[in-house]
Amino acid sequence: MDDRYSRQVLFAPIGVEGQMRISKKHVLVIGVGALGSSTSEMLVRAGVGKLTILDRDYVESSNLQRQQLFSEKDAANELPKAIAAKNRLIEINQDIAVEAIVGEADIATIERLAPTIDLIVDGTDNFEIRLIINDLAHKFNIPWIFGACVGSYGSTYTINPGQTPCLSCLLKELPLKGQTCDTVGIIAPTVQMVTAHQMVEAIKILSENWSELRETYITFDLWKNQQLAIKVGDAIKNKDCLTCGENPQYPFLSYDSHTKAAVLCGRNTVQLRPSIDGKLSLELLSSQWKQAGYEVRQNPYLLSVKKENLRMVLFKDGRALIHGTNSLIKAKQIYHSLMG
Ligand SMILES: [Zn+2]
Repeated sequence: MDDRYSRQVLFAPIGVEGQMRISKKHVLVIGVGALGSSTSEMLVRAGVGKLTILDRDYVESSNLQRQQLFSEKDAANELPKAIAAKNRLIEINQDIAVEAIVGEADIATIERLAPTIDLIVDGTDNFEIRLIINDLAHKFNIPWIFGACVGSYGSTYTINPGQTPCLSCLLKELPLKGQTCDTVGIIAPTVQMVTAHQMVEAIKILSENWSELRETYITFDLWKNQQLAIKVGDAIKNKDCLTCGENPQYPFLSYDSHTKAAVLCGRNTVQLRPSIDGKLSLELLSSQWKQAGYEVRQNPYLLSVKKENLRMVLFKDGRALIHGTNSLIKAKQIYHSLMG
């Protein structure tokens, strides 16, 4: 055993055997923004066998305050995050097989990777992708670790198919906040707190300390020094859940449930129809966006908000038009940056 991991091996619950197990595992990190940067770095330092990182975005200067794998040079070169992250990760540990995929976390990509994956770590910023991950994780029996953060507020939960309730079950019990890092900001310590909780669970899973897994949903406000751990037991597991119930159908893997995007011909506009039919509060979104300094116009039927050189028009039913682009990827980025 390489001296490199000696301190981790000395930690009794891991030991030589645990380290051997870690070194044979393949982890998929979806999204290498703030959360994914931090978890990926800890995974390669811990000596995981193989790491696949998947991200659709590129590095911008506003990322540098909290996305620890990236440099000013990466931002100046507008490098895809997956590529910039890989460059840094192999500098840290050249023995790890790091695979970088630049693209959407879509069903086809994750499904292709799934058969060899031992663990999925959530570094995404929206629930549409998380619900797809949740379905695929259950279909292929892969544990996955949910993580989210905004402002000084973070939350995380470990999902082990067949053992714990799934994300859909959990979401039924917990309210969703319509806040994102682009509306209320984020401080770096929030990221590190979420990833600390995610990674301790990851190391337990990779070293096969299954009985040690945390059985609570953790949520905290770091600024206000508040933390809550909610016991997530069988009580919230819905036996009729279409993902983790007795007759699973994996609803988020069917085309109908996805955000439908279409370029509107001749209008330099993309239309998005999200799959999550939340009850949108235009009032709440409007006040959050105004507070964040965006120019917002409003009437009883829609909100119109300017971001960069684009304008997003959001209808009450959740449908959005992104004006000023023909790029589906750009339009989805703007949508998710404002809506989560
Ligand atoms: Zn469920």
